[in-house]
Parts: sequence; structure tokens; C-alpha cells
Amino acid sequence: MGKRSKDKRDLYYRKAKEQGYRARSAFKLLQLNEQYHFLDDPNLKRVVDLCAAPGSWSQVLSRKLFVDNKSEDDSGKKIIAVDLQPMSPIDNVTCLQADITHPKTFNKILELFGNEKAQFVCSDGAPDVTGLHDLDEYVQQQLIMSALQLTTCILEKGGVFIAKIFRGRDIDLLYSQLGFLFKKIICAKPRSSRGTSLEAFIVCLDYCPPKDWVPKLDLNKSVTEFFEGCNIKEIHNNSIITKWYEEDRDIVDFMTCGSLDAYDSDATYHIDVKDELSNDLLNVSLNPVQMPTNPPYKRALELKRKGKLTRSI
Ligand code: SAM
Repeated sequence: MGKRSKDKRDLYYRKAKEQGYRARSAFKLLQLNEQYHFLDDPNLKRVVDLCAAPGSWSQVLSRKLFVDNKSEDDSGKKIIAVDLQPMSPIDNVTCLQADITHPKTFNKILELFGNEKAQFVCSDGAPDVTGLHDLDEYVQQQLIMSALQLTTCILEKGGVFIAKIFRGRDIDLLYSQLGFLFKKIICAKPRSSRGTSLEAFIVCLDYCPPKDWVPKLDLNKSVTEFFEGCNIKEIHNNSIITKWYEEDRDIVDFMTCGSLDAYDSDATYHIDVKDELSNDLLNVSLNPVQMPTNPPYKRALELKRKGKLTRSI
């Protein structure tokens, strides 16, 4: 249907603009929901969106809970969006500017829910990248772990947790750890997530923490201490010191989400335009929404391409 696109503002970007979403990632949550229907439950009332800015997932949540699942009495419904960055207001969403790695955030969320627990928590968190691959992977894993720790404290039994992951070296270990807390774990790749990226989403269904284990957030406790008594396997991010064996490795289902006729995020699409002279339909590529910029280093790049860039000492 199309060739690989170099225009990073792909069709999902355009569709997001058309449908009033703040980011193309809205379609990732919509396609995950198409497969698992976790947002279609009419009894869904308390929802938390972690790492929510600029807010397209919160927009999806707001439309699902308050438009698609609208009921006569929506007063018990609440969506809380948390991010380090400030967010412009979204209808029916309470925005909280806070750090998901800090225990105080947990208290604030419960306070807003009137001490009731959430039924659904999602996290699309991504830290600022440094370009140092190992460091970036480590920080991303820590962010997922923080989202998971917070979720274990605020999610009610039977609840659903969704989080962005990068399928790196130690991802099987995370699946095993999640297997101690949820009845079903799936690794899902929405069609709007670029096939060329390692990004995927863990869909964790039916929260069932071990009996007698009460998760408590404390800044002075390590992740290993947090999961103490939960029988969760040791958390090792360094593959050299992993102590777990092949038989401990959990294989989870991998699922592509989004209908087969959904757009491919790595392809370029054409529009049919009528030629005024011949009346024929012509296949025309869409122009980029924004033309390439003229960065200050453009000249240096041109010289480098021609092999004329010499370094002065
Ligand atoms: N789901 C969002 C949407 O659809 O608009 C996009 C989320 S964006 C990819 C990742 C967000 O993670 C950023 O806004 C960033 O500020 C947030 N983030 C990273 N670390 C965080 C932390 N420790 N606490 C809260 N938010 C964090």
C-alpha cells in the first residue's frame, strides 16, 4: 500500500490533528482497547493516567468514560492525570503535576479518589533520553518499576494495568515479575506504534496480589524490599548477575492490535486527486505538514556529506 516514510508526521499524526487529540499516541490506547475492551466496561469509574502530558491518553479516557459510556449518573467517575509537566485542562480530568516516583503522589491520588482504589491505571512514561543507550534503558526500566509500585498501591483487586515498555534484554524478567501480581500478561503492539521501534505495551489483566502482601511506598526502601513477601523474583537489571534460570523465564503472548485495515505507521499514503484536464484520478503523496527546518548546523552537514568538513585544531 505504501513505501517506508521519512516524514515522521505520519497519518496518525494527521488523524490526531483532525480528531482533536493532542498527540498521535491516542491511537495506541484506542487500538489496545479495540483488542481488550478494558475501557468499554460501563462500570469503569476510577481511572489513573500516569505520565500523561500532553494528555492524548487522558482525552481518550475522558471520551470513553463520559461520552461513549455516558450514564444517567456520572458523578462517581473520576480520571486523574499525573505528569511532571503542567497540562492544559481536559474535560472531566483532574490534572496533578507530580512525580510518579515519589510516595506523596500515591497519597494525593487516593485523596482525590476519596480513599477508594482505582480500577484502571495506565502509564505511557518515557524519561528524557541522554543518547547513552544503556543508561536510557536503565532509567526507562526504573520508571516502569515506579509505575508498577505505585499501581500495586492504588489498584483494586481485579483491576487492569497498561504500561509502555521497550523490549530490551531483560524484558522476560519483567514479565515473570508481573506474573506474580496479575492473572494474565500480554505484550501488545498497536499498529500505530512504529514497527521499527522496540516500543510495546504490557497489558496486565486481573490484579491479584499475593494474599497477606500489603504494598507500602517508602523512599528509603529499595525495589527488592518493596516486593518482599510477594515471592517476586529478584530484580536485577544487570544481566551479568542474573540468578534466574531458563525454566523461570515466562513467555507471554505477543499481540498486534488494531484492525487489519488500520494504517501502517511506517508507510506513506497517497490521496486520489482528479486531474482537471483528463478527469483521471492521480495518486499524489501528501505534503509534509511542516517543511524541514533550517537548523544552524545545516551548512556543517552539507560540508560533511561532500567530505569537505575539516576539523580545525
Ligand atoms: N500518554 C501521553 C499522551 O498521550 O499525551 C504521552 C506521554 S509522554 C510519551 C511521556 C511523559 O512521561 C512526559 O510528559 C514526561 O514528562 C512524563 N514523565 C517522565 N518521567 C516522569 C515522572 N517521574 N513522573 C511523572 N511523569 C513523568
